[in-house]
Amino acid sequence: MEKTHAQNILKLIENFEEIVITMHINPDGDAIGSSLGLATFLQEVLHKSVCIYNESTFPAWLSFLKPPCAYYTNVQEIPFKNPLVITLDAGELKRFGEELTTYIQDKKSICIDHHLGNTFFATEYTWADPSMSATGEMVAHIVFTYSDKTIESVAKPLYVALSCDTGNFTFGNTSSRCIEILAKLVATPIEIAPIREAMDNTWSEQKLHFWGRLFSEVRFSLDNKFAAVLVPSSYFDEYGVSKEDLEGFVEQMRKVKNVRMTLLMREDVKDTRPIIKVSMRSSGNDDVRAILMNFGGGGHKNAAGATLEGELEDNYQKIYSYVKQALK
Ligand code: AMP
Ligand code: MN
Ligand code: MN
Repeated sequence: MEKTHAQNILKLIENFEEIVITMHINPDGDAIGSSLGLATFLQEVLHKSVCIYNESTFPAWLSFLKPPCAYYTNVQEIPFKNPLVITLDAGELKRFGEELTTYIQDKKSICIDHHLGNTFFATEYTWADPSMSATGEMVAHIVFTYSDKTIESVAKPLYVALSCDTGNFTFGNTSSRCIEILAKLVATPIEIAPIREAMDNTWSEQKLHFWGRLFSEVRFSLDNKFAAVLVPSSYFDEYGVSKEDLEGFVEQMRKVKNVRMTLLMREDVKDTRPIIKVSMRSSGNDDVRAILMNFGGGGHKNAAGATLEGELEDNYQKIYSYVKQALK
């Protein structure tokens, strides 16, 4: 099945010389890893002209991965006249930001994504498969359909993509197919130890203290089945940390015995408007996506997000009422 999709996409790509790769705003490890892996493959192996666009800047915590091409945060900077646009790791146009939504209107596009609820906005092809562990796995299927081996600069970002979306190969989405792809990436070869060092052991002292504060403020409720933390924007200045320093915290709360769902809410600003970014996690049959769909969010059954307006505490109470229903 994935081979057919990969072959179809490779065939379509043959018709284009210039390609823009884009991924959801506030890109995570899978969004960045899949984009860099695909960009490197298109540029180094297929000799295409490639650039990456995202309205969010490149996340500092992934700075050990270097884009092989230009990374633009302004669509006006894209130098191509009539490129193919490949959208990664989200299935709804709004997740790519307003600028991209306008830019893509008169372009040909392909969407490669593993979320539920794809809206099939792409003009040429949509490969949407929620059984895929990561969008990086889908890109790896394309790379290995083209050739059984690849180069280190393609394999390294794809390893990071897979690792990030599977909780370093521990979540329920860690399929045997995902592990087979992992084996092929490692065989490229890539050196795992320095990648892990860069991913795991580069915290600032401030981040450690910030996490200490958050750990002490986790709210447990519903017989410890639910754990949540609220992060006001003032904390970032107080500790000298950034929103990227929260990456992974929502998973940590699940470490407590009996916790079935976790929630992290943080204050942010978008175009001078205050917003709240919500992340939820669960395991097994507990569906956090279903809860956040009530708030215009989405994602996966066990990992979902949403963007809200209003007060932290008010919104917490609203989400809590759905959680209470789900965990009763
Ligand atoms: P996060 O909690 O931001 O790491 O996101 C968890 C999952 O939900 C990821 O697969 C995201 O792509 C998805 N997601 C995050 N925010 C939103 C949103 N506002 N709308 C739809 N899906 C989202
Ligand atoms: Mn993502
Ligand atoms: Mn993903």
